[in-house]
Amino acid sequence: MSKTTTRSRGWQGALLKVLGGDDFELTVTRTEVVTDHYVRLGFTGGGLLQKRPLHPTMWIRMWFDDAGRLHQRGYTLVDADPAADTFDIEFAIHDGIAARWAQQARVGDTITVTVMGSKFAMPEDVEGWLMAGDPASLPAINSLLDAISASDRPETPARIWMEYQHDSDRTLPLRTRPQDTVRWIPRERDGGALVDAVRAEAFDASGHFGWVALDSVSTRAVAASLKGDYGVPKKSVKAQAYWVPGKSFT
Ligand SMILES: Cc1cc2nc3c(=O)[nH]c(=O)nc-3n(C[C@H](O)[C@H](O)[C@H](O)COP(=O)(O)OP(=O)(O)OC[C@H]3O[C@@H](n4cnc5c(N)ncnc54)[C@H](O)[C@@H]3O)c2cc1C
Repeated sequence: MSKTTTRSRGWQGALLKVLGGDDFELTVTRTEVVTDHYVRLGFTGGGLLQKRPLHPTMWIRMWFDDAGRLHQRGYTLVDADPAADTFDIEFAIHDGIAARWAQQARVGDTITVTVMGSKFAMPEDVEGWLMAGDPASLPAINSLLDAISASDRPETPARIWMEYQHDSDRTLPLRTRPQDTVRWIPRERDGGALVDAVRAEAFDASGHFGWVALDSVSTRAVAASLKGDYGVPKKSVKAQAYWVPGKSFT
């Protein structure tokens, strides 16, 4: 993909420009098929990591071409090396322009990205973590697990609910430690199965931190359960919809 213009990105691109979003051109350096529904690509960052400090769950807006119009999609930096300005990105595969681009990407391909809106500081003095995600948010969950391990309380446990749509999803490299527990829940009833599984395990978790990134409907429901059923304070729940069921994320 060649360099992009603000005009072909529509109103979203114009708004990001006004808000001061920085653009970078990434180049594909490596491609890896992880499973039949998961692809990992290596990139050089075009100066991204020199200009923007890294934080756990850090994500960027990638611009994908669809018949001459550009659409932004969020993707998470994996195993970033700021000194080398390199990182990987892992793509859950479904029928979408971003997923198709990732499947067809070749070494040397370039893509423009904007950095704007990604922000997360690790909370302090947390008794445990409650995380809910799926293959799209697995990279972010792994970055949190890495950050907990590197913190001054590496023993802090995480209870993780992972939704899967394909059997191979369950083989994805989740970076759990011995003190963590993982429940793999099939995507049933439009995400209702995972929401019920979370509700069913409720306990007094007022000293915990909740991190949720599922489809838009499930994200809201799980965040509500963590606050309502588990007693996690509102300020200790970070929830962000990662995709919209049955609809492009525009
Ligand atoms: C902050 C943030 C970080 C993200 N990081 C990652 C990441 O590192 N890796 C990653 O894979 N995704 C990540 N996502 C999710 C990704 O941006 C969305 O899945 C996006 O919709 C994919 O775009 P697309 O063009 O492929 O599909 P779209 O055009 O948006 O959607 C096409 C169809 O596919 C369905 N669909 C979209 N995404 C999924 C999905 N994940 N699972 C099942 N069906 C889906 C839609 O409902 C729709 O029917 C992130 C999202 C956010 C907000």
